[in-house]
Amino acid sequence: MKYYSLQGTSPEVDFREAAIRGQAPDKGLYFPKTIPAVSSKLIDGIDEYSKEEIAFQVIRPFVGGCIPDPDLQNIVAETVSFEFPLVRVQEDIYSLELFHGPTLAFKDVGARFMSRCLGYFTTSQNKKITVLVATSGDTGGAVANGFYGVDGVEVIILYPKGKVSSVQELQLTTLGKNIFALEVQGSFDDCQQLVKKAFVDSELNKALFLTSANSINVARWLPQQFYYFFAYQQWKDKKHPPVISVPSGNFGNICAGLLAHHAGLPVKHFIAACNANDIVPGFLSNGQYRPKKAVATLSNAMDVGDPSNFVRVLELFHHEFDSLKASLSSYSISDAATKEAIRYVYTKYHYLLDPHGAVGYLSLEKYFEKQGREPAIFLETAHPVKFYDVVEPIIGEKVEIPESVQSLMGKKMQKVSMEVDYEALKEFLMDSSRR
Ligand SMILES: *Cc1c(COP(=O)(O)O)cnc(C)c1O
Repeated sequence: MKYYSLQGTSPEVDFREAAIRGQAPDKGLYFPKTIPAVSSKLIDGIDEYSKEEIAFQVIRPFVGGCIPDPDLQNIVAETVSFEFPLVRVQEDIYSLELFHGPTLAFKDVGARFMSRCLGYFTTSQNKKITVLVATSGDTGGAVANGFYGVDGVEVIILYPKGKVSSVQELQLTTLGKNIFALEVQGSFDDCQQLVKKAFVDSELNKALFLTSANSINVARWLPQQFYYFFAYQQWKDKKHPPVISVPSGNFGNICAGLLAHHAGLPVKHFIAACNANDIVPGFLSNGQYRPKKAVATLSNAMDVGDPSNFVRVLELFHHEFDSLKASLSSYSISDAATKEAIRYVYTKYHYLLDPHGAVGYLSLEKYFEKQGREPAIFLETAHPVKFYDVVEPIIGEKVEIPESVQSLMGKKMQKVSMEVDYEALKEFLMDSSRR
């Protein structure tokens, strides 16, 4: 399998190269040259497969022989070593719970897969890799956890001060060892701009082997296809595939779902569920793609004003607006409506949504208003406890804190604060080349 740059000027690379580089030298995102069809045996007989087997079959053609099968099988088995249950919330709405991994958010799968692939690839080269990542909340914790203690890899995480939840901050600042947290006095977009600048700084790239762990990295993006296969496996009525609503920020997750669908996975329709950051809902309604400054919302992992992976969605549909619209709808949900949904679903159905899942749930309701009701799934992308400061006042109860979070509470946060200042970041990174 070859990957080409969506900017179109860098040479094609294999999976190994794409995973190590993150971004192409021309700053484009890598995209697979062909979309391998999933076997009808897997689709028709999906009940007979374990989740490890499904994941292996789905990812294998994308890895294209860069990792031998037995090693890839191990990587995949470690990646999906927790549950992905499809839970009935009400008559026609199901929640695919993606928060049973170590950091209680769906990004664990991509981060675990990527860290293990890079770990495999670094054993065959003797230069340390520095993973540089900007996070709006969940990426940082998942990446920190996925890479913690991986030899030959150092991880530097930038996060916007005061804009991540307290649990998220604990998850990314309390590990130490090869994990470094930088608290930036700005927005997620500021963090992302700083990171982008570092990747094209030739002096820095001479001193360090820099790579990205954001969802633009193919090794993080592609394994997210697994969720949609796991959903389909648990979907009873295979003759009527589900509508799937995906809480979306940088659009990596939903783009993986659309990719799986192009490869042959039955899905009736996709919904990109957005908060007040409504760039894609705007685009789908008037054809104008207008990036904006991100605004802070309750579903902070989706506070993105210029979603990086949306170019991949466009590529998948060959930039044909009408065919994209036939497969994808998108809605923008306010914080007030998000809160109301959390309260309503908890009171009426005794199911506790987190703010991101609530945006996914409400987007389904908006879709139903136009299209009529039908059985559907929303992805529950984070455990509500990660947002207990939001959720508890709404439901007027304490959210039970899982063991994994409780153990963080007493730990010391280790972080370095900085302004939105590229030179300060560069200095920090140059220091890291001497560590
Ligand atoms: C990252 C994240 C999202 C958005 O996913 P994208 O792939 O960036 O669209 C949604 N919900 C939660 C909880 C997240 O952490």
